[in-house]
Amino acid sequence: MSINREAYFSLNKELADAGVLLVAVSKTKPVEDILALYEIGQRDFGENYVQEMVDKAAQLPKDIRWHFIGHLQTNKVKLIAPFVQLIHGVDSLKLLEEINKQGAKQGRVIDCLLQVHIAEEETKFGLDENELNELLENVSQTALANVQIIGLMGMASFSDNEEKVNSEFNRLNSIFNRHPEFKILSMGMSGDYKIALRQGSNLVRIGSLLFGERAR
Ligand SMILES: *Cc1c(COP(=O)(O)O)cnc(C)c1O
Repeated sequence: MSINREAYFSLNKELADAGVLLVAVSKTKPVEDILALYEIGQRDFGENYVQEMVDKAAQLPKDIRWHFIGHLQTNKVKLIAPFVQLIHGVDSLKLLEEINKQGAKQGRVIDCLLQVHIAEEETKFGLDENELNELLENVSQTALANVQIIGLMGMASFSDNEEKVNSEFNRLNSIFNRHPEFKILSMGMSGDYKIALRQGSNLVRIGSLLFGERAR
């Protein structure tokens, strides 16, 4: 276990210059690695698994901002509601209603991003644009006081085809731009963040570039 300090410093500078938030994706990595990155200045970390995030948060400094970037099951919302900074992958009204309920219990307004499906692969979660608009319409009629939808999240196809990845990010950016109320556009990972930045991303989720390759 070790972190790539040089990659962190250069990435951090590149992103700070562009006004882009870096979420360091620490899934499967030990708390020692997270702490090492924390000690050189990183505060936003992303996790995919609820129990893993809860366990790590309990062991690490309280000023870490935890981003949930995985697929969230409704029955697990209550475990992260007390402390989560931003939930990236929301794609149903049912989930939003549960986040709202748990937010109310905690006396918090929980920030969320809606996940839009832009990749070709069938397996990835998310909404198409019609479903997105439908969901937003439903939300506006439901008045969920303890959730705030502040933007969109998406994942491009796993592909070496830059043009394809570029056009998928471009599509998400166009959707984002049709919603001036949105502030955050979460797109870009280790392999494709440079393309995402060109397409208007203002939040990147980067794991292996900082923490090394993962087993899962
Ligand atoms: C794992 C993961 C990342 C980070 O992936 P890397 O390729 O390691 O940078 C980003 N976003 C999501 C949703 C992930 O699951």
